[in-house]
Amino acid sequence: MSSVLIVYTGGTIGMVKSPSTNTLVPMDFSNIRKKVPELQMFDFKVDTITFNPPIDSSEMCPDVWVRLCNIIKDNYDSYDGFVILHGTDTMAYTASALSFMLQNLAKPVVLTGSQLPMGTIRTDGKENLIAALEIAAARENGMAIVPEVSVYFQSKLYRGNRCSKVNASDFMAFTSQGYPHLAEVGIDIKYSYAHIRYTPVEGPLSIMTDMEQNIALLKIFPGMTRGYVHQVLNIPGVRGIVMETFGSGNAPTDKWFLEELHQALLRGVVILNVTQCLAGSVEMWRYDTGRHLMDMGVISGRDITTEAALTKLMHILGNYTNPAEIRIMLNKSLKGEISFR
Ligand code: ASP
Repeated sequence: MSSVLIVYTGGTIGMVKSPSTNTLVPMDFSNIRKKVPELQMFDFKVDTITFNPPIDSSEMCPDVWVRLCNIIKDNYDSYDGFVILHGTDTMAYTASALSFMLQNLAKPVVLTGSQLPMGTIRTDGKENLIAALEIAAARENGMAIVPEVSVYFQSKLYRGNRCSKVNASDFMAFTSQGYPHLAEVGIDIKYSYAHIRYTPVEGPLSIMTDMEQNIALLKIFPGMTRGYVHQVLNIPGVRGIVMETFGSGNAPTDKWFLEELHQALLRGVVILNVTQCLAGSVEMWRYDTGRHLMDMGVISGRDITTEAALTKLMHILGNYTNPAEIRIMLNKSLKGEISFR
């Protein structure tokens, strides 16, 4: 019999309305079988681990990602798959981070949550949880069908490091513009085998838990001042910057702007160029306004999401110090987070 471990970290999905205060409060997750009696109908075993106290996903940070990695590692041999219940707000960051931190993953790790709490009548949480569990338990010829970190939301399964939360109110809260979904849930679950990552596993599961937090996000905008750019690039101790640029990786050509970037690069700060657009790729060679960044040594993030770029930079800078190696690793697709066309 297959078995799946649910790890409840917090977020809306696990909330109920308190009859006394009428506000949303975390429910006792050990009662999940009462709230979702369908869990008893599965032909696989479901166990749960609950964060105590559960956390709003705005409180997520590398320490919690390490905790999740350790839970998966400690329980890896006992379960066929894992479902992480998580607030939607930072789910794409956690999914991206876990994809880089878990090495030799051969089992599904499916993150899901909901827009309406499990304790409300129109909740989307029940369907999300049930489908995520089915996907986490799904095997074919003794192998997991989706052996990677994914996010399940509203009938679609996305690669974890390819999706973003794009809607704060609709049930359809996530999208993955740069990469096709891995499965679609209707009457049947239709897996998109060609898009699921099947890479040979080279050993037992291991975790890489060093995450460099001395990084920053520089979002450029028309009218930004030198002071703003200077402050971000000169944060004491900063080792890496994700720079969100326009279109295909373009930025102003003002002398002061280029000078600030140049000085940061000379100090050894790594700058990864990602686009502010929801889809498409950084192609710095396309326009003159991108070319000068490329010539200077800014690294292309290609079609990586900002969530994946930030967590990849934390992961790479946490584990590598050699500048050439860092550049090679950032240019590589580690876990299917970027496309090469
Ligand atoms: N603030 C909540 C969280 O991200 C929202 C949600 O669960 O969807 O934890």
